[in-house]
Amino acid sequence: MGLETQVQNPFIVTRMDEVINWGRKYSMWPLPFGTACCAIEFMGVVSGRFDISRFGAELVRFSPRQADLLLVMGTVCQKQAPVLKQIYDQMPNPKWVLSMGACASSGGFYDNYSVVQGIDELIPVDVYVAGCPPRPENVLGAVMKIMEKIDRERVAEWR
Ligand code: SF4
Repeated sequence: MGLETQVQNPFIVTRMDEVINWGRKYSMWPLPFGTACCAIEFMGVVSGRFDISRFGAELVRFSPRQADLLLVMGTVCQKQAPVLKQIYDQMPNPKWVLSMGACASSGGFYDNYSVVQGIDELIPVDVYVAGCPPRPENVLGAVMKIMEKIDRERVAEWR
């Protein structure tokens, strides 16, 4: 549509980047891929006390085609690996991935053959959140990091 045309003009592209990124960062649609205890902590993140809706990301989706923020929360077994990969592939661009907790980020204390030793072996990760489980504040901090990243993105580079 018009984006290719606007790429020709750097001034317009800069303005468009700002407007589109502003809209994107305040309207992320999260998809929770929860497999273990970290997913329970996510309930705190979306509930009233911590209130992720302050960042415009309260509209939790359970269809990858309607989501742009994938939150992986918990241990990912080798048998689940193709499922996670397929879900990521089904999400439209642009999309971001938040790895919540030690298990998702590194396998945690499940250092064995049946557990994926970090989801970055399967899909690209934008932000890792340390902890077992991480506090809701840490997750919100990671969401803010992704918002900062969106701010720096160029619309022309989405593809
Ligand atoms: S990091 Fe800790 S809290 Fe999170 S899924 Fe692993 S064991 Fe559970």
